[in-house]
Amino acid sequence: MEPIRIAWDWHMPRSTPQERRELVRFVTELGFDVLVVSRPEVDMVETAHEAGIRVVAVLSPGLDAARTKADPEIVQRMLPSEEAMLEAGRVDGDEQRQRLSHRWFPLFQSGDLLCYEHPRARRIIDERVDESLAVADGVALDGFGFRNHYACFCSRCSTAHGSDAERLARFSEESLIGVSKRIYERAKSRRQDAIVLNHVWPPFNPNPYYGARLYLDYCTQTISWFYRPVWPIERVRLEARLHKSLEDKSRNTFVPFIGLYDDPYQRRSADRIRAELDIALEYGEGSVVLCTLEGPAHDATIRAVVKDALLR
Ligand SMILES: [Zn+2]
Repeated sequence: MEPIRIAWDWHMPRSTPQERRELVRFVTELGFDVLVVSRPEVDMVETAHEAGIRVVAVLSPGLDAARTKADPEIVQRMLPSEEAMLEAGRVDGDEQRQRLSHRWFPLFQSGDLLCYEHPRARRIIDERVDESLAVADGVALDGFGFRNHYACFCSRCSTAHGSDAERLARFSEESLIGVSKRIYERAKSRRQDAIVLNHVWPPFNPNPYYGARLYLDYCTQTISWFYRPVWPIERVRLEARLHKSLEDKSRNTFVPFIGLYDDPYQRRSADRIRAELDIALEYGEGSVVLCTLEGPAHDATIRAVVKDALLR
């Protein structure tokens, strides 16, 4: 496959046509060829196409409270003890505890997620794929995991996986693989040239390296995380090398994902970003994802490093 340079953004302003044109111009200037955003606008996609940029829409299994209330059977369930632990964590200062305890992901995902085994939930996912492809060039799966990072305990899933640990682990992993296959086939049936990619998130236990088994064009896996503490650069290389060694191109192509926020507390130096991009491009064979664009937008030295890495 040709190398792919993906900008995944949550933060750049897009509320006016002018801002959307500016975002496409910025993405082009940095050397990216795919832009991933949530709910892309028609006019931005048109501008992007004129610039040779493809736009991919974020696809989420999340549900708002009204939808959950209307059809409670389609949502993932955790064990009652897990719900109680999640509730106990909803106290002032918990965010600080999470940060100081060096947890780089929350114990439980707090929002509702679809159960990947329920037929009505699957139809909602199909509809979301269709809606995305009516505007965008592809879909980017984000958040396709379990709220407790290992299983759904709705009545349907509980009956299917039982309480044997190995059977449960196998069932859960196959559930994640199955939903990616369904989305991949749905997207390609709608548009043969649709791009199907993801970001492996939230982490899955007991096999955090299951991503190589997903049905996708590109499986983007974290080699450097958004939050402190910054991963030692040796670990960045180790993660990239490990994902590359597990890659199964009959399922997907591994693309290294670099998470970068611009909050003063999260910033990393331009030299550090340069080192991460070098590792990403080496193990990604020229492909990389940078998420988000706020760092390069606000810091000229980071901007220069990104352009230099992508355009050299
Ligand atoms: Zn379920």
